[in-house]
Amino acid sequence: MTKEQIAEKEAAARPDFSTRLIHFGSEICKQTGAASIPIYQASTFHHFDIEQPPEFDYSRSGNPTRQVLEEYIATLEGGARGFAFSSGMAAISAAFFMLSAGDHVICTEDVYGGTYRFLTTVLNRMNIDTTFVDMTDLDRVKAALRPNTKAIYIETPSNPTLKITDIEAVVSWAKEHQLLTMLDNTFMTPYHQRPLEHGVDIVLHSATKFLGGHSDVLGGLAVAANEKLGEQLKQIQNGLGCVLGVQDSWLLIRGMKTLQARMEVSERGAARLSSWLAGRLDVAKVYYPGLADHPGRAIHEKQSKGYGAVVSFDLGSGEKAKRLLSRVRIPIVAVSLGAVESILSYPAMMSHAAMPREVRLERGITDGLLRYSVGLESIDDIIADLERALAED
Ligand SMILES: *Cc1c(COP(=O)(O)O)cnc(C)c1O
Repeated sequence: MTKEQIAEKEAAARPDFSTRLIHFGSEICKQTGAASIPIYQASTFHHFDIEQPPEFDYSRSGNPTRQVLEEYIATLEGGARGFAFSSGMAAISAAFFMLSAGDHVICTEDVYGGTYRFLTTVLNRMNIDTTFVDMTDLDRVKAALRPNTKAIYIETPSNPTLKITDIEAVVSWAKEHQLLTMLDNTFMTPYHQRPLEHGVDIVLHSATKFLGGHSDVLGGLAVAANEKLGEQLKQIQNGLGCVLGVQDSWLLIRGMKTLQARMEVSERGAARLSSWLAGRLDVAKVYYPGLADHPGRAIHEKQSKGYGAVVSFDLGSGEKAKRLLSRVRIPIVAVSLGAVESILSYPAMMSHAAMPREVRLERGITDGLLRYSVGLESIDDIIADLERALAED
């Protein structure tokens, strides 16, 4: 058998994602058989024999509870090593510390606001410059290349207008130029999209969103495609010290076990919601990669198994958007997404408030734009709630 045939056979023998989500290898306590892994609330570890250092010696460098979470996300994404951080931004900024002074980064223009802030107010002071480009257009990505370009940072679907980047096209071009490729997979999760399988080097998550799923934990995860990158990330994680605490590690593991069950329900709801919104005359525009008229739909289907649970829509004016926000009864009105409860956000005044108005409008983030993250409530109730809130106009 060739190497490819062996890999194919192994992949075929691998249990389905839903099974791996529950039986990921370290889900049972090896000492006691406990069905849930223990929380090792310890900062340091006794050396029983000074000649033989223990596997764990200090919790910043490694903790058994956190390690289970790190192995869990590595398994789900199909990578070599996983790392858990104190927030999504901690994971993302740690990944950027792979770069050195004088390096240049190409980044998707509608990147998460916190990432934009880190690149333009922190990393720039380390003499690392970023060019922001519309990554739906490969020619613009290519045009941004400089002699000192070292990395490319992708987010697809993007936030909040759900633009799609062709992962394989960008990554194969990046590899020709030996660029490090990083991708923020928060919106899709490994259930739908596994970027490492498309050649990406480092996958990043705000685990605060779908992975945690209950609006009760702040956390970040990173997965390295190979051991070498894993070793580098490990050094950065230990050096920066922004690790996830053990209680939160345990909560994340607990939340992640129901990822698929939650995603399926929320996504079915989002599909219904998007077509209902698209059929209304008082809704100017609807953004959802599952809609037939979404410009990135075909590319998205090539690289993802589903469309996710986030729907953005434009009511045409800031007054209408604000009225809706004051009238809805089901969703919480807040930043964040990916939870059991529906979350309705208003990008213009929340996540993108710091962006200059002209830039914001240029990117489709108008005063009338709202972003609905569908939770686990009845979709009939969610639609009825919106219908009532819109009817009052
Ligand atoms: C929320 C979010 C982040 C930041 O994660 P935190 O856990 O809030 O630090 C990064 N990327 C995306 C796409 C997000 O939605």
